[in-house]
Amino acid sequence: MNLETGAKNTWCPGCGHFSILAAAKQAINEIIEEGTKPENIVIASGIGCHAKIVDYVNVNSFYSIHGRVPPTLTGMKLANPELIPIGFAGDGDGYGEGLAHLIFAAKRNVNITMIMHNNRIYGLTTGQFSPTTPKGMKTKSTPEGSSEYPFNPIRLMIAAGATFVARCSSSDIKHLKETIKEAVKHKGFSIIDVVEPCMSFFNSTEYLKENVYKMEDHDPTNKIEALKRADEWNYTAEGRIPIGIFYKVEKPTYDELVLRGRNPRKN
Ligand code: SF4
Ligand code: MG
Repeated sequence: MNLETGAKNTWCPGCGHFSILAAAKQAINEIIEEGTKPENIVIASGIGCHAKIVDYVNVNSFYSIHGRVPPTLTGMKLANPELIPIGFAGDGDGYGEGLAHLIFAAKRNVNITMIMHNNRIYGLTTGQFSPTTPKGMKTKSTPEGSSEYPFNPIRLMIAAGATFVARCSSSDIKHLKETIKEAVKHKGFSIIDVVEPCMSFFNSTEYLKENVYKMEDHDPTNKIEALKRADEWNYTAEGRIPIGIFYKVEKPTYDELVLRGRNPRKN
């Protein structure tokens, strides 16, 4: 299916968002080819450069407000359980403005998917430090270097109760596409942290290309192992970066439990 919208793309050349867009379109197309009705796929974004992605994919979509993609998707899923809600958020949008919403969506295990554009900087507002900016990095809002340690979203989401937690890199579109498909098929809250460059304010292109590697020998059902793997890279300015599915388990979903409660005959 042609998912082009004809909207003019205004991202900077080389921005990691292009890889996420390409991978998401391929994944959505394959999900449709496998039998999902196109009208049941709905995407939403927050505020930031990433948010324009909803203009570039020809499926039902919704521009939400800053940090509020998880509650937007939760509402969609509860209103119409047939829908497959897929959300996009940035590191500033999702891990900063909307962190509590993300944590509660993970805690509830709502059956939605979040794809995080994590370039570790605020791009749209021209280069302020974000919750995942490496300690010591000089940005417009930290001219002498950030004194804060970054969040590790993988560890944070596992601790919050997410039942599918993965990391991908914009430098590997095929792996990202496959992981998006798995995340969407997962019954429960799934999140993919996609590390990527911001060409204008934090160009990590070469660093990602050289340091990303796929986890081969990892059991994603083992929470202790997942947390250990998560700590292999703490969003610092150096070190190798494992990608793949860190954690994946089955648990009843919030939408199932709430909708059953509304219709006792379905219990
Ligand atoms: Fe991408 Fe950064 Fe340009 Fe925004 S400012 S479009 S995040 S490269
Ligand atoms: Mg960002």
